[in-house]
Amino acid sequence: MSKFQGLDTYRRRDTYELLPFKFDRLEDDDYVITNMTGEHLVVPMPELHALLAKKLAQDHPLYASLRAKHFIRYADEQAPLDLLALKLRTRLARLTGFTSLHIFVVTLRCDHSCPYCQVSRRMDSESSFDMTPDMANKALDFVFSSPNPAIKIEFQGGEPLLNFEMVRYVVETAKQRNLKERRDLEFVIATTLSLLTDEVLAFCHKHNIILSTSLDGPADLHNANRPRVGRDSFERFETGLSKARNVLGVDKVSALMTTTDKSLPRVREIIDEYVRLGFNGIFLRALSPYGFAMKTRRFMTYDTERWLEFYKEGLAYILELNKAGIPFVEHYASLILKKMLTSNDPGYVDLMNPAGTGIAAIVFNYDGSVYASDESRMLAEMGDQSFRLGNILTDSYKDIILSDALLDALEQSFTLSAPMCSDCAFEPYCGAEPVFHHAMFKDVVGRKAESSFCKRNISIFKHLIGLMQSDASTRRLFIQWANSC
Ligand code: SF4
Repeated sequence: MSKFQGLDTYRRRDTYELLPFKFDRLEDDDYVITNMTGEHLVVPMPELHALLAKKLAQDHPLYASLRAKHFIRYADEQAPLDLLALKLRTRLARLTGFTSLHIFVVTLRCDHSCPYCQVSRRMDSESSFDMTPDMANKALDFVFSSPNPAIKIEFQGGEPLLNFEMVRYVVETAKQRNLKERRDLEFVIATTLSLLTDEVLAFCHKHNIILSTSLDGPADLHNANRPRVGRDSFERFETGLSKARNVLGVDKVSALMTTTDKSLPRVREIIDEYVRLGFNGIFLRALSPYGFAMKTRRFMTYDTERWLEFYKEGLAYILELNKAGIPFVEHYASLILKKMLTSNDPGYVDLMNPAGTGIAAIVFNYDGSVYASDESRMLAEMGDQSFRLGNILTDSYKDIILSDALLDALEQSFTLSAPMCSDCAFEPYCGAEPVFHHAMFKDVVGRKAESSFCKRNISIFKHLIGLMQSDASTRRLFIQWANSC
């Protein structure tokens, strides 16, 4: 005799309740349903109709997944609500830490003259565009006012190595202060590597500093995108990369690329160049509507559709490489997949809600101005001071963090109440991006139906879900990516 009763004994007779979720159409008759914690399922239209009418049979293959992912519950069940709350708390846990990334713009001077430059750089002899020790001290007061136990200080420019003395000063002073503060302190220098010297490398090695650099693709493309006197940007990059890896270690140098109109037909070559140079991934980025990119109209030289073709071709090629045994990651996809496939949020500023501006990252400009984000100071360089939160020489931490410029932008752009976003099935994976929408529409909410940020993200979200649906090995690879960033 069997020790257990038949399956029917354990089936509930009462009907299920729907927990909050949203849905959107994918290809053909398939729909994706998502809930507030980012759980998702792909459901064919007939099943979606049955689900909504509370007529989906308990023995339907989707039923168990719908319960496991908290899309439905029985009326007397409390556990699904508790689990939803727990997952949501985990997702938003980062907010309690407050600002981690502090960007020090130590100079606007630069030895490059990139046409898409986002910071309106100055000639490399104009030292009036350098940060002073007084400003750096005040900025460090601000940094250590943040309650976050993990503090990252990133040096940007211009080319920060043109004011290396200030980099040195900030690192040494911050470390001195940290003897008492005992934070988890990390330093990054964003540099083209063109001015890297043995002295700089020895300093980076001593203080465990990471280098974040730029690589736009093969030599001719990189040099065309990044002109400098001598036309040797790529050669300097490659020499600097090799030296930096020797002294600091391979994992201490990362690279970012920017997509120009010249890059669009060459995504495979760009990825091949990253592979050739030993990088384990690439961040396929679109141009931002800021700084010289806007002034020189470079931002308008390709539309979102064309960029999406570029992105999808690149992603397909990266999947091919992985299937051929070459592990390689597309970082933007990884960040999104982390939100789709885990309970954690990667804390990527562009994909945060509330927006990451000011509360995840903040910028101290060379002149003491404090901005809500890197993009905010780029906008200010174009004459729009909307996201200037104050000045470290005259304003207190409270004045800056509680400024109307910051709080209004965070409140108004909050995606759970913003038009379109609040109804969007992809909201759990997206971000508020008030600065981008202000730059494009003069309104922090923006018109999402016309927003290239929205169009680009929806297309990528759907594409990633479609890829996972159509191929189990891609899904397994994406789970690895989600857990590696
Ligand atoms: S910006 Fe677009 S994709 Fe993102 S949440 Fe809003 S409507 Fe959805």
